[in-house]
Amino acid sequence: MPDVPSSFADLGLRAEVLAALEALGYEEPTPIQAEAVPVVRSGRDLLAQAATGTGKTAAFALPVLERIAPGEPAAPVALVLVPTRELAVQVSEAVYRYGRELGVQVLPVFGGQPIVQQLKVLRRGVHVVVATPGRAVDHVQRGSLHLDSVAVVVLDEADEMLDMGFADDLDTILEACPEDRQTVLFSATLPPRIDQVADRHLRDPVRIRVAAETPAEGEAPRVRQVAYLVDRAHKAAALGRVLDVESPTAALVFCRTRGEVDELAETLNARGYRAEALHGGMDQEQRDRVMGRLRSGTADLLVATDVAARGLDVEHLSHVVNFDVPSAAESYVHRIGRVGRAGREGVAITLVEPRRRRLLDEFERATGQPVRIARIPTVADLRARQMELTLDQVREALEADDEAGPDGRADERFRPVLDALCEDFDLDHVALTALRLVHETSGATDDDVEIPEVRDRPRGDRRAGRDGRGRPEHRGGDRGGDRGGDRTSGAAVGRLWVGAGRSAGVRPQDLVGAITGETDLSGRDIGAIRIFDRFSLVEVPAGSVDRVIDAMGGASIRGRRVPVRRDRGEQDRGGRHRGPRRG
Ligand code: AMP
Repeated sequence: MPDVPSSFADLGLRAEVLAALEALGYEEPTPIQAEAVPVVRSGRDLLAQAATGTGKTAAFALPVLERIAPGEPAAPVALVLVPTRELAVQVSEAVYRYGRELGVQVLPVFGGQPIVQQLKVLRRGVHVVVATPGRAVDHVQRGSLHLDSVAVVVLDEADEMLDMGFADDLDTILEACPEDRQTVLFSATLPPRIDQVADRHLRDPVRIRVAAETPAEGEAPRVRQVAYLVDRAHKAAALGRVLDVESPTAALVFCRTRGEVDELAETLNARGYRAEALHGGMDQEQRDRVMGRLRSGTADLLVATDVAARGLDVEHLSHVVNFDVPSAAESYVHRIGRVGRAGREGVAITLVEPRRRRLLDEFERATGQPVRIARIPTVADLRARQMELTLDQVREALEADDEAGPDGRADERFRPVLDALCEDFDLDHVALTALRLVHETSGATDDDVEIPEVRDRPRGDRRAGRDGRGRPEHRGGDRGGDRGGDRTSGAAVGRLWVGAGRSAGVRPQDLVGAITGETDLSGRDIGAIRIFDRFSLVEVPAGSVDRVIDAMGGASIRGRRVPVRRDRGEQDRGGRHRGPRRG
């Protein structure tokens, strides 16, 4: 487990950045953030080993934001080099999200995107450029990207950049940067070629490794580890299904943010579970009460962030669920260490979005045990399992009654009821109907929507997830304005109704930021935005409407949680709008 729990405030970040993190619901720094942020802030060079999913982007983005001077940007102070255009977009969005309150201007720069637009934005000035090496070299050679002002260079996923043949480009770019700049290198692996780059371009770097803790022989918990590959949009439904089949006696469900905790607890309650949300802000007495409810069976599930679950006495848990893949193998090991204690068998369930799949290999290494990838139960599986549960339940009652002997039978008091029913119906018919009633009241959900299966890829294919995402280009650095007609062409358009508008100070960039922040959409996917007094309308690809609504449940816009729904109002062109029709 990470030893000293430090807070973002302890990291000495600016108030605006802290506010952004708070709004995003980040409760505490991930291990790589806790270690890397102080180093990068101190100005020293850094060589860090950390994979995707560890929170590495914020680990360099947050300290980089400390360097942003107020006011309009001129030449870039930071240059982030990344291997792919997808990552360029993703990192730009992250920097923008964390630094929104500072008015940070970020420009993603990559090949295959019209260079004219990039030139225009570069001329206007930006704080941070996030570029693929090839396109960065183009700009340097054209004279459109001046690196004299760059105070910090970040090489993100350096191993990938080398694998993709960018070594010479990296040399060219780094040589064009001022000598006294700071250089920060992140890499998932550290082959000798990385050391060569570090020897050439880093000065006495601090080395950090977010290590996967390997437990000693015999210490590995007796835990059955199962993972389900599922798209983000179907995660909550998938979890409901998995829990129905697993029927845990007591489970702890981990989410990444408070918003997610609340949303998931609500969803699970709607599915008939007694789920309690556990928050970081609760005092010991409140926690004890929640734990008491779990222990006595009044609650089945506890939904919590890592911070909230810290120090909980959870001896009797049967299941730990990673609704969100933990950011480091270390944290995974710590989470699942809560089951399988004292020789009891425990189950660790992890829901993985396909692009994070590679973390499972790390979890296997860290626990020394296999993580089996299972298929999400189908509707038929669920039905079969529910029948099994009903069968078990009735069988148990029959056996208990048998043990009590003919005189002690609790069921005898129902004899008059049975006799009365049998006057009009067959015994068989009565029994079947009684079973149906047992089945229905024991919480069998009428869940009949299939969850789409995610195609499994071979393990160890490091780049498959990211490259497979095929995200469209992003017109980055865009801060809103009239976005009509700025959408990827061709696709059908759906419209979202967002319950905050001008009177709440909502600006187009807030909506873009919230949507791109919570979903896998990029700014380019977002169409016309219209802001009314009390609500806003946002166009997104028709196929993503539900996904966005799902994801936006925990999102806040300008610091407030706002409702987001599918807009079913009239196609209004005249400024009048009735808002969504409810129900
Ligand atoms: P990365 O490894 O940078 O790709 O980050 C993985 C995911 O973790 C991203 O979705 C981030 O938004 C999220 N994230 C990063 N840091 C934190 C944190 N301290 N708390 C919660 N979520 C985080």
